[in-house]
Amino acid sequence: MRLGCGAVALILALGLVTGCGKAREGNMVDLVLVNGKVWTGDPERPWAEAVAVGGRTILAVGTTAEMRKLLPSAMKLVDLGGALVLPGFIDSHTHFLAGGFALKSIQLHDAKSREEFVARIAAKAREFGPGRWILDGNWDEEGFSPPELPRRDWIDAVTPDNPVCVSRIDLHTVLANTVALKLAGITKHTPAPPGGEIVKDPATGEPTGLLKDTAADLVMTKVPEPSFAEKLEAAAASLRYAAEHGVTSVNEMADAASFEVFQELARRGRLTARVHVYIPVTEVEALARIRMKSPPGDDHLQLAGLKGFVDGSLGSATAYFFEPYTDAPGTSGLLHGQMFPEGVMEKRILEADRAGLQVAIHAIGDRANALVLDIFERAAAANGPRDRRWRVEHAQHIRPADIARFGRLGAVASVQPYHLIDDGRWAERKIGPERVKTTYAFESLRRAGATLAFGSDWTVAPLDPVLGIYAAVTRRTLDGKNPGGWVAGEKVTVEEAVRAYTVNGAWTQFAESVKGTIAPGKLADLVVLDRDIFAVPPEEIGGARVRLTVFDGKIVYGKDR
Ligand SMILES: [Zn+2]
Repeated sequence: MRLGCGAVALILALGLVTGCGKAREGNMVDLVLVNGKVWTGDPERPWAEAVAVGGRTILAVGTTAEMRKLLPSAMKLVDLGGALVLPGFIDSHTHFLAGGFALKSIQLHDAKSREEFVARIAAKAREFGPGRWILDGNWDEEGFSPPELPRRDWIDAVTPDNPVCVSRIDLHTVLANTVALKLAGITKHTPAPPGGEIVKDPATGEPTGLLKDTAADLVMTKVPEPSFAEKLEAAAASLRYAAEHGVTSVNEMADAASFEVFQELARRGRLTARVHVYIPVTEVEALARIRMKSPPGDDHLQLAGLKGFVDGSLGSATAYFFEPYTDAPGTSGLLHGQMFPEGVMEKRILEADRAGLQVAIHAIGDRANALVLDIFERAAAANGPRDRRWRVEHAQHIRPADIARFGRLGAVASVQPYHLIDDGRWAERKIGPERVKTTYAFESLRRAGATLAFGSDWTVAPLDPVLGIYAAVTRRTLDGKNPGGWVAGEKVTVEEAVRAYTVNGAWTQFAESVKGTIAPGKLADLVVLDRDIFAVPPEEIGGARVRLTVFDGKIVYGKDR
């Protein structure tokens, strides 16, 4: 058994953990989980049967027999009956507050036809009544039969009094109806903003309603800001949803306004997941100023760093490649608006790095990935050696030479496995057989020495980490056409997938000393699954359900609550 009294005392002494009162020092046990199969992620003791929790931290990890000795003083005992225990999942890339709004908004993801798409929007307009915006949606024309991009004239008749701006599943294209285009002042004469496209009908020149990347902002800036109370409600919905899926830490790719929402929930003691907020790289000066004046936060909530964009997405043909798209030879993708004027992204990253801030840059196409690695290399050379943990968000399509560069830079490949079983249905049509070979190259990146951090990109993909693990391990596309795995050489083991959702996630947040493994002295964030995903056939992993979620030493989800 590994007892954590020394570690707990040390942590208390360093002031890293608060809320562990004097009572804890005598190993006061609040919760004991026994008869489990515990994957700890701790190299000193990779597997165990039982975990004892006191206050906010893990006190001891060992066998059921050892832990039973602690029982007389334990407030609560949970017999796991052989269930699997993992460190609480860390989702390295979410749009967490937005997710709360999406939970309550229109769902278009599984609309199977134009008729169904229109019917759902019509129903929402009736439910909302005149004037209220219809947003989110996550539509996916690849799921329509036949696949066909939507147009505003599909929905204008059913939404005469509601502005509509529903997003594609990748969030890089929206469909606006005529009411919304009018509010934004978009006509056939409106030029596309840098890094965006107003899709126009080739015959009439009129906007079809589809707006790509920065062009969507022309409409989205007209959407009234939700009230602070509405935001608190949405954030609470996200937190409940995360607890149901065993997620105890998230990176929130958002803005300072989102930080303030979670700050209020932290103040009220209502956080049931640790939230690390990344704000737009365009706000580098503001963040550097805030961080200089006050500490970056605590283990519940942190203003973690800056998020930037180099390009768009594959699905919207705005991911930026060296060579043209196979199915659209007229384009190689688009650089994001944040890349203009030329050189500004590098200037901001240099500035962030000088201020000691972590940056997380979205790069999907192979050229976008090469560009961001170039910038990282130059910034490191200019500012000198430092523990940076550069993050590339998505790191989706990478030239073989750049995979090695990820390793050399010690960069984080912050990837979302669910995207691969989704995009794998049609990616080859878009970029051809050669580029597909180094697409979602998780195993190659790992072998090259990059740190793989898994996430969902919720609401772009489901928040569920179990689905992410299933996707990374099997690489079976959603259409069932690749039972042996799509680009099968890039499958990772269950253990590597779990590590990418726990240990590695903590490392990318500079938080490996306090979480990510199940070891004495670590924060007590745990998830219990109803089946052993290490033992079941890989295709059954996705069916695993969360039985119990422990956050900060407390059960926040589950029957045993
Ligand atoms: Zn995202």
